[in-house]
Amino acid sequence: MNKNKRYLLALFLIVSSFTSKADESELNPAVIKECERITNKLASVDLQDCLDNRLDQAKGYSSEGAPILHKDYLPVPGRLPLGRVLLVGGIHGDEYSSVSIVFKWMKTLDEFHSGLFHWRILPLLNPDGLLRKKSQRMNTNGVDLNRNFPMSDWSNATHDYWENVTKRNPRRFPGIAALSESETQWLVHEINEFKPDVIVAVHAPHGIIDYDGPKNGPYKLGRLYLNLLGTYPGSLGNYAGIQMKIPVVTIELPYAGIMPKPAEVAHIWRDLVSWLSKNIITEKDASPPG
Ligand SMILES: [Zn+2]
Repeated sequence: MNKNKRYLLALFLIVSSFTSKADESELNPAVIKECERITNKLASVDLQDCLDNRLDQAKGYSSEGAPILHKDYLPVPGRLPLGRVLLVGGIHGDEYSSVSIVFKWMKTLDEFHSGLFHWRILPLLNPDGLLRKKSQRMNTNGVDLNRNFPMSDWSNATHDYWENVTKRNPRRFPGIAALSESETQWLVHEINEFKPDVIVAVHAPHGIIDYDGPKNGPYKLGRLYLNLLGTYPGSLGNYAGIQMKIPVVTIELPYAGIMPKPAEVAHIWRDLVSWLSKNIITEKDASPPG
């Protein structure tokens, strides 16, 4: 931890001890340690902001045993949320902007969460890939997590693709079996438990919106336009969007290492919330009134 961040952490602990903000969970040592590791890696995420997010240590762990942090923005009491949204960043460890932007959006939610949706947010699914000396797309076992989700005939479909299309590119290795990795196991568990109406996954650097699932995806979010890339075997879009029929919006930021400008970060968010408001369909919408 550098001097500045150590100072900020000390300041946080002191200030917290004098305000109603502080409680045991906020000072969970495992969460503080993960915030330190993340903010040492990502210049766009401030340690204080990470701590202020009051992330929870989920029951999920990376393959190396790092906690996968998450946070729920709960429905406001008395207000029926339009639906549940699962937002996931950092599935690929070398797509820095896909983690940083989720932290920026959490800051927005911290200020303006209105209870319109019940959000569950995982800013970094692949901590081992990001938080190693040289960040990598895959997890610590060399598995591309976005090819490790289950599908029928997973072994043939993913390995055919890996061998014949990617020419055994190690960055696209799907693993030895579907859900062989603790990170994908955890995300599938979260999907089954949380039952999201929409999943939003953030990646980089294609600079487009991709979509898998029923109906149509958003045509435009900020400066990013819908451009369907096709559905890869073993991907989250294939698993959740095609098989489970949960709309999966994939936001592909234009650069892995450069964040969009603050106005664009806000613009993508506004357009996403607007699209969700108009397009989210929950089971309760389908049931008769009464
Ligand atoms: Zn990616």
